Amino acid sequence: MLIVQKYGGTSVANVERIKAVAERVVKTVEEGNKVVVIVSAMAGETDKLINLAYQVSPNPSEREMDLLLSSGERVTTALMAMAIEALGYKAIALTGRQAGIITDSVHTKAKIEKITADRVINALNEGYIVVIAGFQGITEDDLEVTTLGRGGSDLSAVAIASAIKSDLCEIYTDVEGVYTTDPNIVSEARKLDKISYEEMLEMASLGAKVLQTRSVEFAMKYEVPIIVRSSFSDKPGTLVTKEDKDMEKVVVSGVTYDKNQAKITIIGLPDKPGIAAKLFNGIAKANIVVDMIVQNVSSDGKYADISFTVPKTDLNKAFTLSKEIANELGAKDVIYKDDISKISIIGVGMRTHSGVAAQMFEALAKHGINIMTISTSEIKISCIIEAKYTELAVRVLHDVFKLSEKANV
Ligand code: ASP
Ligand code: MG
Repeated sequence: MLIVQKYGGTSVANVERIKAVAERVVKTVEEGNKVVVIVSAMAGETDKLINLAYQVSPNPSEREMDLLLSSGERVTTALMAMAIEALGYKAIALTGRQAGIITDSVHTKAKIEKITADRVINALNEGYIVVIAGFQGITEDDLEVTTLGRGGSDLSAVAIASAIKSDLCEIYTDVEGVYTTDPNIVSEARKLDKISYEEMLEMASLGAKVLQTRSVEFAMKYEVPIIVRSSFSDKPGTLVTKEDKDMEKVVVSGVTYDKNQAKITIIGLPDKPGIAAKLFNGIAKANIVVDMIVQNVSSDGKYADISFTVPKTDLNKAFTLSKEIANELGAKDVIYKDDISKISIIGVGMRTHSGVAAQMFEALAKHGINIMTISTSEIKISCIIEAKYTELAVRVLHDVFKLSEKANV
């Protein structure tokens, strides 16, 4: 098999761990596989570099920031190749550029445009273990160094896996896989054997931080099978793959929470065409990402209240902007609430099972947890609740949907 293995920051945090990873790589090769290794910077290194930048300038240029940050992954790439060679195997370390990772020119959050992986493939054919720096790329025209956004080495791994048509992309991290919920909140949280891309995407974007969201989107689009597993054990991990019939039998696969949202409500907007468009156009222009939106019309049909959620970090900006727009539109009042959290249940089985929402609401009600806002998609139901009930809600839902028990499929 041709396997891509990506090792995150904690897996390469020091020389002992780098050596341990080198041994794991060599073992995979000894089992008859060809291996490409993608590495992150050593744990904490990227933060350290960002910190340095802000010590010399209050406003570091993004171009130079990319050059600086890309150095973290260069270090681990070179060390990893050396560690593998020390075990008697041929290895070659490549930067993003040398591996042919071409991106657009949006510094600090570049998008991969294409990968010209000839050099990687040639090296593999010559019997090398190829070690590639994650998180970085290069622009095609002027050869500017770019980075792919925080956590971006997951994306490097999936993109390389797709480009070289590898059979598998293993993402090594410090947890044993994807869990039914946060094990810090529910000790009986269970590791999932497999999960669909769509479910993983919901989990990733809702705050289960095992995989970077964009890497899952990419994997789904190009059907790259991913295994999330720990570099500290030999346990099999969680397979992230295409949805299959078995997965549908499980109604709820996971419970997630997100404490980083805040809610803005505009009260008494005139209810006529174009109002919502004006409001959300204004918000979008400020580059604020709106998550949930709920609108209610008064019984006489003249007024509407609109509530929506935004990332907490954007609350100030969004609130000021909402007040301005609300004023223009003749609304009565604008209020916000930031001590909220979003609790979600996720599962592709929801497409074919009814009564899931009712079960969720009932469970929350039984524990006196008030639901402020509800939103649903085909495979997800989210509720906004008071932040102080987050842990309780997660436990209650994990329990009511029996997530600690392995589904019998
Ligand atoms: N080192 C980069 C970061 O910390 C990329 C990564 O680890 O995925 O964001
Ligand atoms: Mg990561």
